[in-house]
Amino acid sequence: MSTLVLKFGGTSVASTELIKSAAKIVKKEYDNGHNIAVVVSAMAGTTNNLINYVNDFHSSKSDSEEFNTEYDVVVSSGEQVTSGLMSLALNEIGVPAISWLGWQLPIITNGPHRNANIRKIIPDKINECFKERKVSVLAGFQGLSSESRITTIGRGGSDNTAVFLASSLKADRCDIYTDVDGVYTSDPKMTGKVKKLDKISYEEMIEMASQGAKVLQTSSVESAMIENVNVQVRSTFSPDQEGTQISFDVDENQAKAVTGVAYSKDEAKITIIDLVDQPGIAAKIFRSLSNQSINVDMIVQNNFIERKKTNMTFTVPMSDLNKSLDVISSLKSEMNFLQVLSEDNLSKVSIIGSGMRNQPGIAAKMFECLSAQGINIEVISTSEIKVSVLIEKSKTNDAVNALHDVFELDKP
Ligand code: ADP
Ligand code: ASP
Ligand code: MG
Repeated sequence: MSTLVLKFGGTSVASTELIKSAAKIVKKEYDNGHNIAVVVSAMAGTTNNLINYVNDFHSSKSDSEEFNTEYDVVVSSGEQVTSGLMSLALNEIGVPAISWLGWQLPIITNGPHRNANIRKIIPDKINECFKERKVSVLAGFQGLSSESRITTIGRGGSDNTAVFLASSLKADRCDIYTDVDGVYTSDPKMTGKVKKLDKISYEEMIEMASQGAKVLQTSSVESAMIENVNVQVRSTFSPDQEGTQISFDVDENQAKAVTGVAYSKDEAKITIIDLVDQPGIAAKIFRSLSNQSINVDMIVQNNFIERKKTNMTFTVPMSDLNKSLDVISSLKSEMNFLQVLSEDNLSKVSIIGSGMRNQPGIAAKMFECLSAQGINIEVISTSEIKVSVLIEKSKTNDAVNALHDVFELDKP
């Protein structure tokens, strides 16, 4: 007998009919004699609707602790609905089941509201259910703070709930059921030639996810790697098909230089012109942004040595652009820079692959490919297994398709 965590994303539970068919997947595993815990997202679109309700109450206090605390109460509620419905669907087909909310186990979190981190899941109630051959259905995305308030753990966070639950139950598998049948070389919605990957390494998947491949939430893959959780991505709509295994053992010598192409259309760029070139300036800017929970991504600094001035360019999520500009303006009198420029019609496109470590010329090939498409590169950033470029948003599709072709990702 194995212990399995099965997670169903928003599109997989988008209606009561779909919840009933997802319940049949659970029943099949249950009838095989396994201990089953299910994690559900809210119905597709629900979380966005709930966020819109909250945003109707935006005021000068909209970034305050009180606002964010009530945001979590409202926005976490979508998962309460689907956990109850999934439990009803299971009981209806003869699988004894019970729903749990984050606070009931509890799922203990720390960190800020809206973006809390799971510290620990107490699995005792679920283990008791296993003894009674009962399936537990856990509401994803939510937890409990040390002040006994409800928290949420960031968009797409039900993946992380599932991984943490699998770790705390010492589960044999954590199956992430979604609307695609695995991880592809790029977003199937973006390019037609994509190929499904039988397996992908944890570190490649972390880079893919963090560069925009939302099929798995980044922190869920990081948690899975640290906690050694066996994760598979599978399709709710063709559950008998093999999915993608996230694994440690990818033979880097065999691997292609590039495994996948990811993109994110949520990018804004800020340039501060003519900062004084002296120690502590960058520290001050990025500490001030971080104090406002703004996640800075790409950073480029150009020094004009003869003038003792520097220009600083960095990117932030589009949703944080105005907040970031406010932070920079508040530093103007202290820092005495000349001007701030910003641009928000941008995308980041990235190529990812462990094989890059052993093959020179991959970045050059990427840049040549984009140049042949007439695509201008605004900012570049790299890691050992990734090259990212910032480009005009309207060119995203062309860039993804051209890179997919030039690195022959559709070939075996
Ligand atoms: P869920 O609601 O199940 O959590 P998400 O919408 O969060 O599902 O993630 C699944 C989506 O991720 C797919 O529909 C697909 O468009 C997108 N996606 C982006 N990049 C990839 C990729 N490389 N492989 C598979 N899916 C991807
Ligand atoms: N419902 C939440 C969201 O849409 C969490 C999730 O689906 O994983 O972000
Ligand atoms: Mg998701």
